Amino acid sequence: MKGRCALCRWKAICNGNLRVRAESYFGDPWAPDPGCYLTDAECGIPEDGPEADRAVEFPVPVQIEPPDRVFPPELLERAFALAEGATP
Ligand code: SF4
Repeated sequence: MKGRCALCRWKAICNGNLRVRAESYFGDPWAPDPGCYLTDAECGIPEDGPEADRAVEFPVPVQIEPPDRVFPPELLERAFALAEGATP
């Protein structure tokens, strides 16, 4: 996968979601899913640096108009730990 899906912490769980939507929106089935509603921060992608640059190679709507919601950092860290195999 390319763009933010390639870098996302949830990739092992969601598998890049819907490939046909990526192809329809970007003309590339390996581009990120434009329907993903998670922000880059929620995907564990840093704000600056080479990963951030790579994440916006294929801009998706949530990057252009991020939602106002902000998950508490401790909740996000717990969710990341669970996704990486921690026990509840
Ligand atoms: S960016 Fe969204 S669609 Fe892509 S792998 Fe992560 S959660 Fe799934």
